[in-house]
Amino acid sequence: MSVPVRVRFAPSPTGYLHVGGARTALFNYLFARHHGGVFVLRIEDTDRERSTEESTEAIYEAMKWLGLAWDEGPGVGGAYGPYHQSERLPVYAEWAERLLREGNAYRCFCNPEDLKARREAAMTRGEPPRYDRTCLRLPPGESDARVARGEPFALRFRMPDGETSWNDGVRGSVTFQNAVLDDLVILRTDRHPTYNFAAVVDDHLMEITHVLRGDDHISNTPRQIRIYEALGWTPPQFAHVPMILGADGTRLSKRHGATSVTTFRDEGFLPETMVNFLALLGWAYDGEREMFTLRELEEAFTLDRVSKNPAIFNYEKLEWMNGEYFRALPLAKRTDLVLEHLRSTKALPEAALADRAFLVKAVEAAGDRVKRPQQFLAYSAYLFVDRVDPDPAAWSDLAAKPGASGRLRKLADALETVDPFEHDPLEAATRGLAATEGVKAGEVIMPARIALTGKKVTPGIFDVMLLLGRERSVRRLRDAADRLEAASPAPAS
Ligand code: GLU
Repeated sequence: MSVPVRVRFAPSPTGYLHVGGARTALFNYLFARHHGGVFVLRIEDTDRERSTEESTEAIYEAMKWLGLAWDEGPGVGGAYGPYHQSERLPVYAEWAERLLREGNAYRCFCNPEDLKARREAAMTRGEPPRYDRTCLRLPPGESDARVARGEPFALRFRMPDGETSWNDGVRGSVTFQNAVLDDLVILRTDRHPTYNFAAVVDDHLMEITHVLRGDDHISNTPRQIRIYEALGWTPPQFAHVPMILGADGTRLSKRHGATSVTTFRDEGFLPETMVNFLALLGWAYDGEREMFTLRELEEAFTLDRVSKNPAIFNYEKLEWMNGEYFRALPLAKRTDLVLEHLRSTKALPEAALADRAFLVKAVEAAGDRVKRPQQFLAYSAYLFVDRVDPDPAAWSDLAAKPGASGRLRKLADALETVDPFEHDPLEAATRGLAATEGVKAGEVIMPARIALTGKKVTPGIFDVMLLLGRERSVRRLRDAADRLEAASPAPAS
């Protein structure tokens, strides 16, 4: 490309950064990096009622967490600032005036109630709810006279007739009939610009070469192209990325689950996972490879591999992918993340967390089943209680095993003397007992598992014994035998 690539992510700070916005930010970032270009962050905060400082901060935070560093924008600066639209109001006023002077815009004095009533009437007549151009037809001089009387007015863009086409970087050729485009308001009565106008002015002045955004903006594009033309500017290249759907084929929303990037973070998803997963929403490399680091994506990302078709947000796949990244972390790092989670949720008393060496072993034992720190306790809670409270389903399995209590007692006896209390001798003792009893090893191991942990799915049984230690293991085995016998006394033998 001859001109250096400049792209922007231009969020409206009216809420948290949701996955759709994050995916747009990521694609822009990757496109810039791939082409050695510049990634700009611009805050579109001209909607005074809905924009908040808190959302702006939340957007920065989420982008930083994902590792999407911007080259120009808030906190970084750059030659094209300011990067908050609220600080650029005079710039928009100046270009709007120019459109007015040259007859490409006109003053509109219609008040919101009248507009609404007329729109509704048009719809009742089966006509499109467009602005009816009342103020375009004002007799000469009247517009100036009303301004002189201090009447408030908005500025409307005068949409030309005909049709508007562009060659979209994802969609190919797209055409809109101008008749469906309104004479849109570009400057409100309070002198604040509307999105379509401010975006054009900024994208031009910031020398944006490519506009990559969600396809919910596709019908804004012909409006924006007409504004570029009226100002004598060349539009950038547009590329509209496909929308993101939930598993049921409707647009992704809170009904489907979490949609905010920081919620995923708080649920224990890793930034590496999020970046990799978001990249695959509407982009694919070769239809096979799925695991990519951010650096690898910078290398691999091209627009020609972005799909026109909607992407499906698959929560199970996200979970799976996090498991892949989580298990690839060094054990010490996984332990840190588990510890951080247990601390922040106060899931366990602080004293239970004091023995780091023990936690490291517990995290190691829980192994691959743990895909997020949040799942650690589900497999490890038995380590942090005095007495296990077995899952009812596990307990009824145990209660249904004839001879279980006797075997638990014999295993307890064996564990009392096994020496050293280590993995292999524990295994030998357990298997030895099964052999003496003339049963399969599972007939000893399954009851022991439930007695020791209260659950059917746990880390390896000998790891469990090691983690619990001799005394606690023996006590739990006998405890379970006592409980089984109390519930259904063993037949006299
Ligand atoms: N502020 C707009 C939004 O958040 C930006 C759209 C665009 O990229 O042009 O949807």
